[in-house]
Amino acid sequence: MDEQCKQYQLLLMDIHFGERNMDGEIKGHLEKCNDCQAYWQGLDKIEETLDALNFEPAVDYPQISEVLARVRKRESILESLKFVLVAICLLLASVLTGFKFLLFLQAFFYLTLPFLSLPLIYHYKERCDSRG
Ligand SMILES: [Zn+2]
Repeated sequence: MDEQCKQYQLLLMDIHFGERNMDGEIKGHLEKCNDCQAYWQGLDKIEETLDALNFEPAVDYPQISEVLARVRKRESILESLKFVLVAICLLLASVLTGFKFLLFLQAFFYLTLPFLSLPLIYHYKERCDSRG
């Protein structure tokens, strides 16, 4: 296949996909060149094969939503269990340390949370600024 045929075959592909119209020059080449004729017919065959293969996989949306709902439910149960576990630990720690632990924790959060939240505030401000 020579360079000229390569160029014609690129044009034939454009024509096949409706990006260009068949003109006399291309038609003339197509009539006298067996390679390009075979290529032109091959494009149709590819299309037919793809059409035969073109199928939408069956997506069971209700089942997907059901699974997602179950996952969310399980997550919420897990979250609740974690919360209860942490609460029990804190309560036990408070009782065992005569509630000094709770006071310590409260003081710790009062002193550190403002500093810990600065990056979050900065991040939020950046996002608001970038949105305009
Ligand atoms: Zn050709």
